[in-house]
Amino acid sequence: MAGLTDSITALAGVGSRRAEQYAHLGVFTVSELLRLYPRTYEDWSVQVAVSEAPAGAPCCVRAQIVGQVQKRPMQKGGMMYSCAASDGRGHFTVTLFNAGYTAARLRMGETFLFYGAVTRTRGGFQMFAPQVRTPDAGGYIRPIYPQTAGLGTHIIERHMKAALSLFDKAPLTELLPEEERERLGLCTARFALYNIHFPEGGEALGKARERLIFDELFLFELGLLGRRAQMRAADGERLTADASAEFEKKLPFALTGAQKRAVADGVRDMQSGKPMSRLIQGDVGSGKTAVAASLLLSAVQSGWQCAFMVPTALLAQQHAQTLRHMLGDSARVVLLIGGLPAAKRRAALTAIADGSADIVVGTHALLTDAVRFLNLQLVITDEQHRFGVQQRTILAEKGVRPHLLIMSATPIPRTLAMFLFGDMDVSVLNELPAGRQPVKTFAVGTALRERVYAYIRKKVAAGQQVYVVCPLVEKSEESDAVDAVSYYEKLKNGALRGIPVALLHGQMPAKEKEATMAAFAAGKVKVLVSTVVIEVGVDVPNATLMVIEDADRFGLSQLHQLRGRVGRGKDASDCVLISDAVGEEAKRRLATMCATTDGFRIAEADFRMRGPGDFFGDRQHGALPQMRIARLSRDMGTLKAARAAAERVLGNDPHLQHAENAALLAAMETLFENGGDTLSD
Ligand code: ADP
Ligand code: MG
Repeated sequence: MAGLTDSITALAGVGSRRAEQYAHLGVFTVSELLRLYPRTYEDWSVQVAVSEAPAGAPCCVRAQIVGQVQKRPMQKGGMMYSCAASDGRGHFTVTLFNAGYTAARLRMGETFLFYGAVTRTRGGFQMFAPQVRTPDAGGYIRPIYPQTAGLGTHIIERHMKAALSLFDKAPLTELLPEEERERLGLCTARFALYNIHFPEGGEALGKARERLIFDELFLFELGLLGRRAQMRAADGERLTADASAEFEKKLPFALTGAQKRAVADGVRDMQSGKPMSRLIQGDVGSGKTAVAASLLLSAVQSGWQCAFMVPTALLAQQHAQTLRHMLGDSARVVLLIGGLPAAKRRAALTAIADGSADIVVGTHALLTDAVRFLNLQLVITDEQHRFGVQQRTILAEKGVRPHLLIMSATPIPRTLAMFLFGDMDVSVLNELPAGRQPVKTFAVGTALRERVYAYIRKKVAAGQQVYVVCPLVEKSEESDAVDAVSYYEKLKNGALRGIPVALLHGQMPAKEKEATMAAFAAGKVKVLVSTVVIEVGVDVPNATLMVIEDADRFGLSQLHQLRGRVGRGKDASDCVLISDAVGEEAKRRLATMCATTDGFRIAEADFRMRGPGDFFGDRQHGALPQMRIARLSRDMGTLKAARAAAERVLGNDPHLQHAENAALLAAMETLFENGGDTLSD
């Protein structure tokens, strides 16, 4: 008999062609097929009268055919069929288009199930193009699967039945200890699996979903707690030098109290003999880079190699430069990003391998196999929300349990942070450097653009610099949003003629981006027209005005990040949000931006309005193992319960060594292995 880990070709009716189609859905084994959960359901199990059908939503009507099928050619070609039907309470018309075969089955006196939306017209109730089934074939809740070319939902349904039937008699492994399952009132794994695919009824489906959502979150929490326990049990290299004081003397400013505390936390962690696993949460502009630089100096003076991983090439270049500047001759800083010339890349790899590179700053290019460190002891990742659990693991595995420091600029609501970074200690930078003035924010309509341009000219005349951010790179057929390329042309040749304006977007060659950014940082370029590539980490303190076009197209946390590019120096800064949006949600977002500069408040508001999506952006998969069925925005309650259960289970069996937890251990390990995809720039 086929088993869970067998290829799906072990199932009747699945050959190599089908297997190829399934590959597009990420399904290779029987167990992966079973975890291909329905996208939605058609409920044929509850039948309603047309007069009571819900407005606009599809439903199932059981009815007898009471009239002959009328056939009529349509104006644009094709054939329309209609006939009268009765649901026992009233009559309605069934209309089908180009469905001669189905129409021929609708014989007088016979009864069918119709599934579709009911509309009310002047001629009475109508069902246009409903699905038709005989009552014996249809009265159940039908799963609708995510489909791919060639694999219709009914085909998947058939294979799913074949897969489930393999387990009709065999036991299905229960991951959750029985005691926990009962305590939480969850259904069995077996019940959940059968009912998520072929629900016995609405209530059974609810139970199944509850269980599967729980399982997913439970494994995630168990994984995080397991990692924490592993870290605590492991040995970490001890710092032999503490360069904190020496570093501060090199700086042109004094560290804030919060920065000092974070540095001290890090030093203490690295002296403890256990690997550090620390998250630094600091709002934009709170000075996370200086904290990292201080710890890097201590590490380098202790003879260690360090890696500093950031999400974009732009940011890597900037950080490499900042570190060279801050640390001077005390450390050899090497840059490693995709797209380096071959010779440079080779030189970098050699320096990393022979230990002459003290600090390697780079993007996910650091994760590739070719990168071998001699003595990697400290790994720092910046803008952590872009990197997944799995990526922090890969990098960490390049050293022998190196110390791990993660810096997040997206203030993650505390409630969420504890669950997503449950494996880490946390330092919060809740203090901005002295002398910073909060950025003033204004939301204006496009009618005021001319005044905004005048303000840009005024800022430039005062020796300051300006960012203009657009939602698109280039003109697009699909959207009328402002695009950076043509907006740049327009400004350069119009309102900002005579002022050095430059263009920056993600599709430019790396060299050009670098040169443009350098020119802006040096003050040669006064106005930078850009896309969200500057969202993360870019630091030019002389920039004091941020103009965001079509501001309603950005999420709250993104707007906050963009705004964080200004207000970094001693001069007062402004942020102008241009938008003609009339939608309630958009207006609320803009109003929130004008009302507060507190990243934590914005994050909470964003979380309430849109769920956690924006914390992870499109790269949601990077920050979390792929969730198949759980949604953090909806399932916070379950997440808490899952966390508590994970704590109890690990309390009884800290390393999951007990025989009854073997399946749990295996499942947890697979989850983290398959959890993240590779990032792209
Ligand atoms: P973020 O936390 O957003 O990464 P950065 O590390 O880029 O912030 O720092 C923002 C700016 O503030 C930089 O120009 C940095 O040099 C400056 N800065 C950092 N710490 C201080 C401080 N204690 N006093 C004054 N300026 C500081
Ligand atoms: Mg930063």
